Amino acid sequence: MSSTTDILSLSKDTLIARLAVLGEKSYRATQILDSIFKKYATSYNDITTLSKELREQLSSTVPFPILKETDRRTSKDGTIKFLFTLSDGEMIETVFIPTEKRATLCISSQAGCKFGCAFCASGLLGWKRNLTVGEILGQVLYAQHETKGAVSHIVFMGTGEPFDNYDNVLAAAKMLNAPEGFHIAARHITISTCGVVPGIERFAGEGMQIELSVSLHASNDTIRSQLMPVNKKYPLKVLISACRAYAQKTNRQVTLEYILIRDLTCTPMAAKELARLMKGWLSKVNLIPYNVVKELPYLTPSREDIAGFKMMLERSGVICTLRAPRGTDIAAACGQLRHSLRK
Ligand code: SF4
Repeated sequence: MSSTTDILSLSKDTLIARLAVLGEKSYRATQILDSIFKKYATSYNDITTLSKELREQLSSTVPFPILKETDRRTSKDGTIKFLFTLSDGEMIETVFIPTEKRATLCISSQAGCKFGCAFCASGLLGWKRNLTVGEILGQVLYAQHETKGAVSHIVFMGTGEPFDNYDNVLAAAKMLNAPEGFHIAARHITISTCGVVPGIERFAGEGMQIELSVSLHASNDTIRSQLMPVNKKYPLKVLISACRAYAQKTNRQVTLEYILIRDLTCTPMAAKELARLMKGWLSKVNLIPYNVVKELPYLTPSREDIAGFKMMLERSGVICTLRAPRGTDIAAACGQLRHSLRK
């Protein structure tokens, strides 16, 4: 056992092979994986069915991924924002969002982000690196451990662009869903992209029941390119056509995320354009009132403007939901905690 791949990044077969080198039978792998994925063990010390000697050997050769809790903020609405430091000092954020019927965990797929959306605090610090499969799953393990298994839904909406770390995100998503993994229903897992068209096309061929959401955030190319530089590479025509093709091929509804910014994306003209973009294919839109970031120039629209925008869409036959702001007292918008602690 020479390399030190973390335990959550290993397949069961590789773990069995690694255990065999230590003279251990294959059932040990089941014992270890069950302790992790069903009982939420976060270190070998929690797996008391293993001998002390074996625990020590495993700790040095297939360690748990390092996610050191560096900060935790709990909102009065129950939202918990974790800031983790990774083995190389990079930081990522994970947000636990409980509601009456479900508890959603918003996880990161990269340390930093190279896509530089103008409204996003994560973009302010630039891209650092991809997360490993273990670092992605480690966020879920940690949250399940801390909340006693309360997490029922996962969204890849934290820092990073999931399709820019496609292989690791897909491998992690499979373990989130697998019966021998966290066993979270595929329909309770959402991958959210800022509009990386080749990723959408590839994902359409995976044959998975996982939900796809696309951050649209603007209704025309002028505003979208201003807010999301990715639009220059994959403009709305190309993006919407990839989404249509995805919906047609998979027969699954695509959720569009749309951020409501005062006088920019939350206007009667924008509502008309958005309704036009969504006409004739399987889609719905999730409206998100903008969460103010101190360093950025955008503002949250008034309640009346938000209600008016939603009503215009509904009158055009668009299925839409309005996301209630969560954790505003703890800087729960994308990248805000990491950014405030790095300054
Ligand atoms: S919104 Fe998402 S894709 Fe855009 S900069 Fe932030 S983390 Fe990256």
